[in-house]
Amino acid sequence: SDQVETLEFQAEARQLLQLMVHSIYSNKDIFLRELVSNASDALDKLRLESLVDKDLSVDTSDLHIDIDVNREQRTLTVRDNGIGMSRDEVVRLIGTIAKSGTAELLQKMKETKDAVASQDLIGQFGVGFYSSFMVADKVTLVTRRAGESEATRWESTGEGTYAISPVTDAPQGTTVTLHLKPEDAEDHLFDYTAEWKIKEIVKRYSDFIAWPIRMTVERTDDEGKTNLDVETLNSMKALWARSRDEVKDDEYKEFYRHVSHDWSDPLEIIHMKAEGTFEYEALLFIPSHAPFDLFMREARRGVQLYVKRVFIMDECEALMPEYLRFVKGVVDAQDLSLNVSREILQQDRQIQLMRRRLVKKVLSTVKDMMTANPERYHTFWKEFGRAVKEGLLNDFDNQSAILDISSFASTQDPQQLTTLREYVERMKDGQQHIYYMTGESRSTIENSPHLEAFGAKGFEVLLLTDPIDEMWVDSVGEFDGKRLQSIAKGQVDLDTEEEKKNAEPEREQQKKDFAALLSYLGTALSDNVKEVRLSSRLTTSPACIVGDAQDVTPTLEKMYRAMGQ
Ligand code: ADP
Ligand code: MG
Repeated sequence: SDQVETLEFQAEARQLLQLMVHSIYSNKDIFLRELVSNASDALDKLRLESLVDKDLSVDTSDLHIDIDVNREQRTLTVRDNGIGMSRDEVVRLIGTIAKSGTAELLQKMKETKDAVASQDLIGQFGVGFYSSFMVADKVTLVTRRAGESEATRWESTGEGTYAISPVTDAPQGTTVTLHLKPEDAEDHLFDYTAEWKIKEIVKRYSDFIAWPIRMTVERTDDEGKTNLDVETLNSMKALWARSRDEVKDDEYKEFYRHVSHDWSDPLEIIHMKAEGTFEYEALLFIPSHAPFDLFMREARRGVQLYVKRVFIMDECEALMPEYLRFVKGVVDAQDLSLNVSREILQQDRQIQLMRRRLVKKVLSTVKDMMTANPERYHTFWKEFGRAVKEGLLNDFDNQSAILDISSFASTQDPQQLTTLREYVERMKDGQQHIYYMTGESRSTIENSPHLEAFGAKGFEVLLLTDPIDEMWVDSVGEFDGKRLQSIAKGQVDLDTEEEKKNAEPEREQQKKDFAALLSYLGTALSDNVKEVRLSSRLTTSPACIVGDAQDVTPTLEKMYRAMGQ
């Protein structure tokens, strides 16, 4: 009709679609998981909206997902009677990608020649709805938002554009129809019109979905008559409400994929139940890799809040501190109002208690990992250490627990990281402080003349290369009663009293011998330095620049400048 408009996909969306059309991901089956996942989210949203908004007149008595196949026309349809989308929402949500880090990801993929690495990248990103184009050469979506009368039809072949038009007689909710690619028709493995195939995919990826996933199947009875039966394909069990030994590992993994939009396996699963005055169940996951947006301002936070099995919100920031923003999962509380807002949650005392327990549990899980599975811990720290260290600055209650699970590069061993505990155990007789130096990289620090005397003495020095390190060392101050001492700041006294006493006559002599030189240098360099003095910290380099104890270090100075301060 003349009401059809043709619109262009946003540039990033177009690029991502290209990847899907050319099916760079080998496991095409997951498109159905993505569509079911979206349908399930839409049903969650509708239930919540109907509970909160009593004026919304919608029938929520039979919320469900339907899967239909048509073998002759080679179509597959996923339908839900959930929240639906307005026209504007279709354009905004389906025509563009709002995820931060998209441009960076696409750039990285372009540069990656290795197909497996490239699949890894796209898997971590999660392509959602667009994965339909791995199996379909045309996708039609018809949707009507709950409470609105006009519906919207969207259609695209995944190339550069999509067509959008108004529809008058659509049911509430969303229907997605895939026109399956003809080239898959002969391949048994990609027969997405076969009952067994649909059942297998739903069972494998979507069994825990809380809404019934139904399919109408043909059954021939004893008398040879063909009947149509409606079957529910999933068991609908809320995973977090079951006990740990009842849940299979694969079920946890699929649930993780559903809540995280990540395609790989989680690194660690935390399943807990709290009883007593404030009851809740939590199923948390530590991913096996950092998301792309971990250090971007608008990064997503991972934990969803449910109240008595009813989905309330994504990204519930009141439940997890920012430094654990990579933790994914679900928390289901028994005694909260369904009407809670984000603002109320921030103030709620029970939520704060809950958050405290969850944080402690995450930290203790990582601590256990250090001994039970060092390799896994190593992955954890490599991926998330930089974020976790932010907690040293702003979670004082847990500062020592965070220090316990932190590890650092050191001069002790170029291959291995060390904990502060291990460092302290190795401290030499007569060594009073924990020495560290900050810098841009291990090699810049290693080339620094500051290190010389420490190497000569056999004192270990921590090599801190993350920008955040500059800040937490100051706020933490000490560990196990030992001061964290920068080797690039102030007077560093490496000698024992005895050594100092023995060296005293020589030092006095040196002071006299070099008095003229020092005073000459002091005058000549007076615009640039405060003082020129003899040092015992060098062994081979003739001179080095030292900051005052209270100075900001060069790296921090750079950071402040970059922040415009
Ligand atoms: P994600 O689910 O990670 O947000 P998707 O690409 O799967 O990304 O979906 C994009 C958005 O489109 C969803 O966030 C949702 O707002 C909207 N959407 C997709 N499918 C549906 C649906 N069946 N009902 C309502 N909204 C939907
Ligand atoms: Mg999705």
